[in-house]
Amino acid sequence: MSIKEVENFDPIAISEQQFDHAVCYVKELKTGLVEFLKKPKRINIVNFPIEMDDGSVRSFQGYRVIHNRVFGPGKGGIRYHPDITIEEVIALAKLMTWKCALVNIPFGGAKGGVVCNTKELTESELRRITRRFTAELADNIGPHIDIPAPDMYTNEQTMAWIFDTYDILHPGKNNLPVVTGKPIEMGGSYGRHEATGNGVYFVTERFLSKALIAEQQTVAGATIVIQGFGNVGAIAAQAFFRNGAKIIAVSDSQGGVYRAEGLDPDELLAFKNEHGTVVGMPNTMTVTNEEILELECDILIPAALSHQIHAENAYKIKAKVIVEAANDPTTPAADKILGERGIYLLPDIMANAGGVTVSYFEWVQNQANQQWDVDEVNARLQKRMYMVVDEVFNHWQGFVVGENKPTDDEVIKNSNGWKPDFRSIALSIAIERVAKATLMRGIWP
Ligand code: NAD
Repeated sequence: MSIKEVENFDPIAISEQQFDHAVCYVKELKTGLVEFLKKPKRINIVNFPIEMDDGSVRSFQGYRVIHNRVFGPGKGGIRYHPDITIEEVIALAKLMTWKCALVNIPFGGAKGGVVCNTKELTESELRRITRRFTAELADNIGPHIDIPAPDMYTNEQTMAWIFDTYDILHPGKNNLPVVTGKPIEMGGSYGRHEATGNGVYFVTERFLSKALIAEQQTVAGATIVIQGFGNVGAIAAQAFFRNGAKIIAVSDSQGGVYRAEGLDPDELLAFKNEHGTVVGMPNTMTVTNEEILELECDILIPAALSHQIHAENAYKIKAKVIVEAANDPTTPAADKILGERGIYLLPDIMANAGGVTVSYFEWVQNQANQQWDVDEVNARLQKRMYMVVDEVFNHWQGFVVGENKPTDDEVIKNSNGWKPDFRSIALSIAIERVAKATLMRGIWP
């Protein structure tokens, strides 16, 4: 029997379980607001034809979901993937609402996607899909309405096409802030490409300094395992390596490599660029993507796909801390098991928020037609990531030892004895902020 038959991996069901658990730590939330915050504000589904290079015509389906706009325009990536579903887009849009609220940036949550396989499309077909999808969304996106960004299988080039299409349709004003993740030469921000990986590093560094793990209060000497040596995983590996950590294993879609003495991320990247995978790197032991999660290490970083840590393997994880670089890599059942086993987990909305934070910096720079240098971007990013960790940690401590500590009765009633974890606490901060702002604005009419 596969794990998917035992555990419910439906993305909306998972996001609702996480929400329900987090709400236990929100002081007061009106019932009607719970329903409002659980559901997306607006769903756009568009179908459009594209002329292919060989003269044939194919139809494509695209989605754009805005979950919440209380703090400002929608913000979230556009994903091109053959398996993308509207349910997944809705769940990811919600995650963006909580992420933006947690890092205190004035955006709501959104996400989008087109059902297509980029590996089977030419560049000119991708350009036509992107332009037509942008035109279909028409005035549903905009610098103060909803701001897309890259996600899986979309990139800087895709963002340049979206900007260009939007700009042609809306001439005569500064349209640069309509998308982030643009090429540097076209209004992109220095440090955006590295932002998520660097953010993962800053969050981990700050968390370790809180001394919850007595023997590991700095990154230096920590052993690190990374599932997914892509953009985020590789940049994070470089940051940890530069600061004295030991990267003992990494993987990509074809498998992983392990070396107890440590791996050099630059050598891994050079090998991967030449061979298309890290597997086969000299002087390493090959491990599978399942085995890599169960290796003995201080810090485990899932940086690839969702639902990698679940009810079946959560018992076998040996890391002291899990840092979620990927979105939704851990299921609610696994969260509970890890909590009971005393393994700390730094959730996606905190750990990978560096990307959206620098996207916000790009949006700010675009409004002023400025371009900050990379040191300024990184210094601002570090400050914000540290602030978020401090806030979540202090709030968590309040529930564990301090003034907010609920009575046993309350805990049992609200959370089935589930201990406060960093995901629920981080989510509860975000939910409380959005709920409060909704009421402050005043419910219309
Ligand atoms: P990427 O495509 O650059 O890298 C993904 C890596 O995962 C690749 O090396 C790929 O080979 C590997 N991979 C694929 N299937 C795998 C499997 N079954 N097991 C192990 N590895 C596998 O993508 P990315 O931009 O690095 O994003 C990685 C994760 O981080 C995604 O979950 C994404 O949603 C999340 N994320 C990315 C950003 C960003 O700014 N790029 C921001 C927030 C969250």
